[in-house]
Amino acid sequence: MRRFDMFVPENMAELLQFLDTHQFGVHVIANGTDLINRIQRKQVNPKVLVDLTGLQELKYVKKQNGLIKIGALTTISELIASPIITPRYDVMGEVARKFGGPSIINMATVGGNICSASSSEDLLPVLLVLTADVQLRNTHGERSMSLEDFVTGKRTTGLRPNEILVETGFPELDANSACSFEKVGMRNSLIIAFVNCAVYLRMDSKNRVVNEVRIAFNRVSGKVPQRARDTEKKLKDRTLDEQSLSDAVATLKGELKLTSDFRASDEYRTDVACTIFRRTLQSCVDKIPGEKIIV
Ligand SMILES: Cc1cc2nc3c(=O)[nH]c(=O)nc-3n(C[C@H](O)[C@H](O)[C@H](O)COP(=O)(O)OP(=O)(O)OC[C@H]3O[C@@H](n4cnc5c(N)ncnc54)[C@H](O)[C@@H]3O)c2cc1C
Repeated sequence: MRRFDMFVPENMAELLQFLDTHQFGVHVIANGTDLINRIQRKQVNPKVLVDLTGLQELKYVKKQNGLIKIGALTTISELIASPIITPRYDVMGEVARKFGGPSIINMATVGGNICSASSSEDLLPVLLVLTADVQLRNTHGERSMSLEDFVTGKRTTGLRPNEILVETGFPELDANSACSFEKVGMRNSLIIAFVNCAVYLRMDSKNRVVNEVRIAFNRVSGKVPQRARDTEKKLKDRTLDEQSLSDAVATLKGELKLTSDFRASDEYRTDVACTIFRRTLQSCVDKIPGEKIIV
């Protein structure tokens, strides 16, 4: 049997003080849907688990200074139930509808998803294309960094041992922009994706030319979700038509570094990635009011 101590802070000050003075073998836990599995598989061997779930002040979704801000302890179901997450932000519903099963979306926290930092985490590509940043806090204060810089590799982040993630935030979508997410696995729930894809699209005022596009896959170059920047360049400032799309798909094929495993071959993953990229882009186009372009 594996043994560890559990510390349950009653407030933020107590938590940060504890983390500042006890760093060796200490691991914070939110709702444990990822961490408990990893402890059972002996991938993590904590001496002390520090339970964050008492920190109710980290459960919120709010708008502030043109940003949508989400507290780290907000669960996926709380996120999509928030009145801030209007149909304009249905991308969060697209994540939730294929996220684990009902019990998992009621437990999985946004902060836990980000800090798990693996290619199985579905919020990561969405937050990447929304150019999210993260707020980190310790006893000495708070600092912020982009999510892209925060996730440094598989299961590694820029979090210091005495810090926790308190919030993520991203700019509000404007009238000419939209964000969509697609995920393909063996079935629609309780599955790790073969491939997932998030796209942010901003069209010009006539809805003809791409002002800005950001594309992220969970396996662009292996282990963590990343932007497909070369593919983005093929679409920026161009009309969405068969030519620009063929150029983008050809570039995407070269940019993806997909691997074969027991779930799927790399050829199959590449085909699926190209198909869901087109579908996700079309979904963004459909969400932007105005003239419709068929891609
Ligand atoms: C059956 C099953 C299905 C799943 N399906 C999906 C799925 O479809 N899509 C998906 O994306 N994920 C899925 N997951 C993975 C998991 O549910 C998510 O990653 C979840 O968001 C993790 O949140 P948590 O609160 O449970 O994190 P925990 O397991 O408590 O923590 C995960 C990691 O984050 C760290 N951490 C948590 N919160 C903080 C914080 N505030 N500050 C600093 N570090 C922190 C912990 O130390 C730990 O390293 C699934 C898991 C299971 C068991």
